[in-house]
Amino acid sequence: MATQMMVREERPDAEAAVASLLRAIGEDPEREGLSRTPERVAKALAFLTSGASRGPLDVLNGAIFTESYRGLVLVRDIEFYSLCEHHLLPFFGRAHIGYLPAGRVIGLSKLPRLLDVYARRLQVQERLTEQVARAVQQAIQPRGVAVRVEAAHFCMMMRGVEKQESLTITSSFLGDFRSDTDLRQEFFAALRGPEAAAHSPRKRRPAHTIHTPDRLLSRANAETSADPLEGSGARRSGVLTGAPPPVPRGKYPRRVGRRPSRQRS
Ligand code: ZN
Repeated sequence: MATQMMVREERPDAEAAVASLLRAIGEDPEREGLSRTPERVAKALAFLTSGASRGPLDVLNGAIFTESYRGLVLVRDIEFYSLCEHHLLPFFGRAHIGYLPAGRVIGLSKLPRLLDVYARRLQVQERLTEQVARAVQQAIQPRGVAVRVEAAHFCMMMRGVEKQESLTITSSFLGDFRSDTDLRQEFFAALRGPEAAAHSPRKRRPAHTIHTPDRLLSRANAETSADPLEGSGARRSGVLTGAPPPVPRGKYPRRVGRRPSRQRS
């Protein structure tokens, strides 16, 4: 009765469906731990799919500016979380969005928001990649757009082939990026730039592991922990192992795997 009185957004169809799903997997939706689960799941799903009712103009309106700069604009390492439409399980990782302006630019903070518009809906990674690229193309008609998405899929990690280390990489190239190999090389070189190396003690790590979700997690830990090694050490024994956490340069030199050749002993 009390819960009926609480002010909250009503999603009766979704809540009934979740309760029904719980019964279908042999659970009792009335038991204490589950009594509010239909409400929580319905609320979470509404948020995780909130991008479906939005479009690129919702975030780009008012954020397009006339500029004469014509070089590569790249916003790299944008984390995102999405839901695979085949299993309703998360896939998450990083996106890199680049373009070559032709008179107009997009406010930089809008590119991550644009990504979220397309990530917060039932998706497949391939479509997400293309939708982001096309949205940038349509918004400012640049000379070219390059989008690369690197993601780990829970439907591959927790079930199915159960591969925790694999990373799925998708790319979309439009305009000059499609026709010009040098431009694509410039885009990829910018993704591997010196900043990326500074984040990682293992510079020679294969490209496909540079942006593993583990690095997202260890970076998040480092940011929330006074001791940068404390949280990341815990992560190392966690599920998403494989890439060691970033080590502050000079502070813990012996944690760095490869010895510099000029090392004194
Ligand atoms: Zn899936």
